[in-house]
Amino acid sequence: MSNSSRYTGLIDKYRDHLPVHDDTRIISLGEGNTPLIRLSNVPRMIGKDVDIYVKYEGLNPTGSFKDRGMTMAVTKAVEEGSKAIICASTGNTSAAAAAYAARAGITAFVLIPEGKIAMGKLAQTMMYGAVILQIRGNFDEGMQLVKEVAAEAPVTIVNSINPYRLQGQKTAAFEIVEELGAAPDYHCLPVGNAGNITAHWMGYSESHKDGVSNNLPKMVGYQAAGAAPFMRGKMVDDPETIATAIRIGHPQSWDKAWNVQKESGGWFDELQDSEILEAQKLLAQSEGVFCEPASAASLGGAIRDVKSGKIPEGSKIVCTLTGNGLKDPDTAISQCSNASMSTIDATLDEVKKSILDNLS
Ligand SMILES: *Cc1c(COP(=O)(O)O)cnc(C)c1O
Repeated sequence: MSNSSRYTGLIDKYRDHLPVHDDTRIISLGEGNTPLIRLSNVPRMIGKDVDIYVKYEGLNPTGSFKDRGMTMAVTKAVEEGSKAIICASTGNTSAAAAAYAARAGITAFVLIPEGKIAMGKLAQTMMYGAVILQIRGNFDEGMQLVKEVAAEAPVTIVNSINPYRLQGQKTAAFEIVEELGAAPDYHCLPVGNAGNITAHWMGYSESHKDGVSNNLPKMVGYQAAGAAPFMRGKMVDDPETIATAIRIGHPQSWDKAWNVQKESGGWFDELQDSEILEAQKLLAQSEGVFCEPASAASLGGAIRDVKSGKIPEGSKIVCTLTGNGLKDPDTAISQCSNASMSTIDATLDEVKKSILDNLS
């Protein structure tokens, strides 16, 4: 133990709650410790007396919450002597796997659906030096292949079926309880494989059991309407949504997430792509917080449920913003075609005229 207050990542901070030993070599990039931002304009705009916080997981080292799970998964893979990791990914898992593998000095293999991953995520994964296998298929098909190949080749799976992933991800709930002094009344997340909603519930439940918090939140999971197996009550074979991070039809934590819903008294719901994009823009333009499309499903859903009264006034709500808006610049730019961008001559008159026009 040192007396330094330097933050060295979530495993060091929460090692008493995580499956590591004193001599475990920790593979960390300083993940976790992300801001919990209280929204000041959105509640007023919707005219409801609620406290909404966003947990900005896009500020993790590779720009998504996947880093919380990956620091644990790669730490354990290295401890167990593994020289290579593998995952199927809609983008963020591959970026995180690639980064932590680089840090550990091992090889990352990633299977991604051809043409369906956001540009920022692809750039990261290439730059960190992963071996990228673009498949002519979707995430669910990639996941199936990863399971089959890991049974025959010397690679460790680092998708969220790796139990260490959820262990790392549960620390987001610890941080929230620490900051609020209690669990929120509602915790809203976007749901793809449903690992993260499961991990958060584990974290809240442990905090509660340890007496750190006296309450438990209702867990609310929002899906994209074109990829909403929890709403259909069965697997979806051809998931489609602009929110590529949750373009998943066969969630790996299916049973676990249903248990979370039942135990917490929460629910699942779905949003149209247009509602997701609207929430993404609202958050950016009224609060200055830029998240990727999938992440905005949490806030978009929460706003709808607050407006309808399903989430009552007086509630304290946390929405997880799972990934950074910079991950998917194409979707952002294509949504802002009417933004006030114009090309002018480089003269004082032109600039002055533009200012006056826009302020009038
Ligand atoms: C992975 C991911 C999700 C979905 O999380 P699950 O644990 O698969 O439910 C949501 N948003 C973003 C940005 C992600 O990267």
